[in-house]
Amino acid sequence: MKLLKVDHIGIAVNSIDDAKTFWTDVLGLPFEGDETVSDQKVRTGFFPVGESEVELLESTDPDGPIAKYIEKKGQGMQHVAFRVENIDQALEELKEKGVRLIDETPRKGAGGAKIAFLHPKATNGVLVELCER
Ligand code: ZN
Repeated sequence: MKLLKVDHIGIAVNSIDDAKTFWTDVLGLPFEGDETVSDQKVRTGFFPVGESEVELLESTDPDGPIAKYIEKKGQGMQHVAFRVENIDQALEELKEKGVRLIDETPRKGAGGAKIAFLHPKATNGVLVELCER
């Protein structure tokens, strides 16, 4: 498996509109726009920084995974995403190594990326996302 770079860092927030002031006005990052991923019940906002991006995540539903995350842990860093060359191959390799996965097969993420999450129990508590664009 080949990890190419940190693709983005996912941060759970109550409201992208409220939170984005810090990333744009204070840190000076551009706001690349937002996108709703309906099957994840999440609205995402991207702020490119160098080779990577900050991804703000706002729940669109009180039952969504981001709403549940904030309920349990509060707002804050939720996941780190690594870009891989070939996500299907990466998942096969992880399965062979017996790594616990949330997604056995890739699903569709924001920006048309193919994404898959590893289980935090397999990563010492960090929610790791793989993505291929
Ligand atoms: Zn992500």
